[in-house]
Amino acid sequence: MDEKLERAMVERQAAVVELTRALVAYPTINPPGEAYTPCAEFLGKRLRQSGFAVQYIRGEGAPGDSDRYPRTNVVGRFETGRPGPTIHFNGHLDVVEVGRGWTVDPFAGVVRDGRIYGRGTCDMKGGLAAAVVAVEALLASGLPLAGAIEISGTVDEESGGFGGVAYLAGQGFFSKPRVDHVIIPEPLNVDRVCIGHRGVWWAEVETHGRIAHGSMPFLGDCAIRHMGAFIQALEAEVFPALARRRTAMPVVPDAARASTLNFNGIQAGTVPDGTGLQAPCVPDRCRLTLDRRYLLEESPGEVRGEIEAVLERLAADRPGFSFAVRELMHVAPIMTEPTAPVPQAVAAAIRAVLGREADFVASPGTYDQKHIARIGHLHDCVAYGPGILDLAHQPDEFVVIEDLVASMRVMALATLSLMGTDRP
Ligand SMILES: [Zn+2]
Repeated sequence: MDEKLERAMVERQAAVVELTRALVAYPTINPPGEAYTPCAEFLGKRLRQSGFAVQYIRGEGAPGDSDRYPRTNVVGRFETGRPGPTIHFNGHLDVVEVGRGWTVDPFAGVVRDGRIYGRGTCDMKGGLAAAVVAVEALLASGLPLAGAIEISGTVDEESGGFGGVAYLAGQGFFSKPRVDHVIIPEPLNVDRVCIGHRGVWWAEVETHGRIAHGSMPFLGDCAIRHMGAFIQALEAEVFPALARRRTAMPVVPDAARASTLNFNGIQAGTVPDGTGLQAPCVPDRCRLTLDRRYLLEESPGEVRGEIEAVLERLAADRPGFSFAVRELMHVAPIMTEPTAPVPQAVAAAIRAVLGREADFVASPGTYDQKHIARIGHLHDCVAYGPGILDLAHQPDEFVVIEDLVASMRVMALATLSLMGTDRP
């Protein structure tokens, strides 16, 4: 590494810890979208101090946007003054709920045993802080750069990204010629380059019945029993078939290289309320939310068709069975070619910083890259950042400081290789 850049990096090791802790102190829990504006303004102020032109863009009218919970995004842009590409670092500001089981204050940024603890340290305020400080170090090193650097802090990634990256992409923030390369510092681990993700199909399946008194179920038709028949059919045929399908994409962990299906929720009938009282009724509807993650090798038509075939067969064979399917969300699988400029630049930087080959991986779930690909039509994008994916959303979430610093070096070197100019 260049001597001036090396010095700038070493000088900033405490700064990246402090910035992570400062970002974690904003309880940006989503839903509902708490503290978005102060967190975005804090980041905006920091970027302005580092020479960035800063804009705030509210995801107006996006799901969840209200005057109480405005979807405030921040985008900073630094122009080098020389023509060249633009590299964009995008981090989401939102975190998921705290949940139970914490042994430390989730927003205090407790530093202990070489780790920073707190909600969002791993997913992904640590990664965002590493990107900011990497760029600050690179600019301070005085190495000649051509083009522009953008850093954004966006909202709502955890709820689909509609008020965040999707909204900005709709306004041209993630398209050429404004932006050429994107790095999203999600916690995929310090030596892995994430080039894409599996597809998602969320749907609600409803079975129908007929209401009657619970003491005389023969007078009605129980929607839960119909749903039970559907679940049994899935268990017998669909789950085993999904487990046999494997993708060529390098999805991690290995078990996620198969197709998967989860039941995200089920709703039906009367449930005892706080008083313990309930009404005895035969439920006339039951709703099951399916979370189907599919492979690059499968088509969305096949994914939906496979579920509908089971339902249609039950409708033909099982007396009284009727159903409805409502699609809730669909995201196609995406993959950046490992030979594209950003994956290559990040992999080379990992080699230089860590002295080992990078692993190209794909994510089991989606993240904001989907909007950059589908709305922005920009395909030179990866997720790369510190933190262990398994820790995301867990109690006592943490990021290892050594990884934070290593990823900062990797991001600075990758940026330098994409926009550095040694030309006279
Ligand atoms: Zn994340």
